[in-house]
Amino acid sequence: MGQSVNFIPPLDLKQQYATLEAEISTAVLQVLSSCGYIGGPLVEGFEQQFADYVGVSECIACNSGTDALYLALRALNIGAGDEVITTPFSFFATSETIDAVGAKPVFVDINAQTFNIDPQQVESAITNKTKAIIPVHLFGQSADMTAIMAIAEAHQLAVIEDCAQSTGASWQGQKVGSIGHIGTFSFYPTKNLGACGDGGAVTTNNSELAEIMRRLRVHGASDRYHHTEVGINSRLDALQAAILQIKLRYLDKWNQARQAVAHRYHELLSPIPGIITPQQLADSQGVWNQYTVRILADRRDEVRSQLQQQGVGSMVYYPIPLHLQPVYTHLGYQSGQLPIAEQASREVLSLPMFPELSVEQQEQVVYSIKDCLS
Ligand SMILES: *Cc1c(COP(=O)(O)O)cnc(C)c1O
Repeated sequence: MGQSVNFIPPLDLKQQYATLEAEISTAVLQVLSSCGYIGGPLVEGFEQQFADYVGVSECIACNSGTDALYLALRALNIGAGDEVITTPFSFFATSETIDAVGAKPVFVDINAQTFNIDPQQVESAITNKTKAIIPVHLFGQSADMTAIMAIAEAHQLAVIEDCAQSTGASWQGQKVGSIGHIGTFSFYPTKNLGACGDGGAVTTNNSELAEIMRRLRVHGASDRYHHTEVGINSRLDALQAAILQIKLRYLDKWNQARQAVAHRYHELLSPIPGIITPQQLADSQGVWNQYTVRILADRRDEVRSQLQQQGVGSMVYYPIPLHLQPVYTHLGYQSGQLPIAEQASREVLSLPMFPELSVEQQEQVVYSIKDCLS
């Protein structure tokens, strides 16, 4: 069956593009005719602007949020025999990159209110092999960075913040990506700051780590054709840099619009029984990459398909927590071992969320949810 014209998608990139079309077209055509497609002033300009935006001294652009995590782990010299503690409630790239450098992901449970890693659980998972913690600022909300940094300091661990979903979010007024040792970002089109293709970046205040990551991103070459180690090829291209420079200027405005949408959802949905609205910690200023509710009493899938029939799109992030993914059978996790993440996987539903979502559309979403749950 075709979708009705009034269908409300989980995410609508077309409206945003329409408002920027003229600016983006001009910039893209300029890059095309310049024939400078790799590196150069547009990429360097974006790196500087993004470093300033996040509040760090160094930004290294790369091909994706996945590569950003990989570069960060490699720069910290994490590899075979090392353990990295992270959340089981994230996109696969968070733990996949730990495996990619030869280390072992160790999953600990999340906080039931925020869906983010629970610092107390982190502390109890530390062994003499632990080298780093990767908190993910899931759905645009900062994890408890005060507690995580205190644990890291006490045990001399590195902290890599996975900021893929949280560009512009902050913790106690400090932007995520500037608090841990390295921040990693994704500019995949559906993220708050999205390119027109793949893109990513790492941020840090440590110039030594920055230098290593700059080298690793170009085949481990300190000078051209002089290779001191095995790296990768992971570049942000000039077209994406030009587009990201434009979009970065609008990011705060878009994030504020997302905050207004979240606030309205909260007011409209909180009184409805059978649903729990997302909470953020008092120190977190979130940017709502997703607005994710819990649907209670095992009704999530039923509610999701009924919403679809009523013209409301939604998504499930994430239906299987990482520790129970088939690829990790060898790690020996049992179902029931990380119960809060497992329960979240059964209950979460991400509702339409994008800066241009209108009040009328939101009212329709809420009306449909009420209808399904009554
Ligand atoms: C999107 C995402 C990534 C990976 O980013 P890509 O640019 O798609 O490689 C990593 N971690 C999280 C939490 C993400 O949401």
